Amino acid sequence: MGMKIDTTLVLLKPDAVERGLVGRVISRFEERGLKIVGLKLLVASAELATKHYGDFIERYTEKLGKEKATKIMDEMVGFLTSGPIVAMAVEGIDACPVVRKIVGSTYPNEAPAGTIRGDFAHVSQDYANTVGITVKNLVHASGSVEEAKIELSLWFDPKELTTYSAVHEKHTR
Ligand code: ADP
Repeated sequence: MGMKIDTTLVLLKPDAVERGLVGRVISRFEERGLKIVGLKLLVASAELATKHYGDFIERYTEKLGKEKATKIMDEMVGFLTSGPIVAMAVEGIDACPVVRKIVGSTYPNEAPAGTIRGDFAHVSQDYANTVGITVKNLVHASGSVEEAKIELSLWFDPKELTTYSAVHEKHTR
């Protein structure tokens, strides 16, 4: 920790785009001194969204039971493909954990103020599960460097990722 430059995947989900928060959310990363090395607006296919959430059912079966986890997975794929999203590749020193901190915890009611989820949403897991919707928490960010590698290759063609030096790197690295 503390010295590795890595690149992570951030998705601005349909709630962020439809609420007109794209600029403000992207600013959070820029302000922190992270560098955007890939960026695009797209509507994802169900196939891509399913691949993206790959192991969700497995991860949540123990906690929620297979039926519920599968239902939530269907909701998530439905939601992620329901409108345009923004895919970003974000580079920085330990970008992966730093970005997760900026994003905040999964359930917005638990996310600290100052994080994206804690500042722009407040929904709870209980509410979402009672109503039967996915937790709308604006952004996705890769959970680990290994996940980031896999997810970046799902969402970006290598030639869509750029190399350049940002002037602010003089002071943020
Ligand atoms: P994170 O996005 O914080 O990495 P996960 O990978 O565990 O969280 O979950 C993926 C997404 O699934 C979450 O961002 C959220 O939108 C949704 N989600 C997670 N848990 C639930 C749940 N219990 N009910 C509905 N949706 C959920």
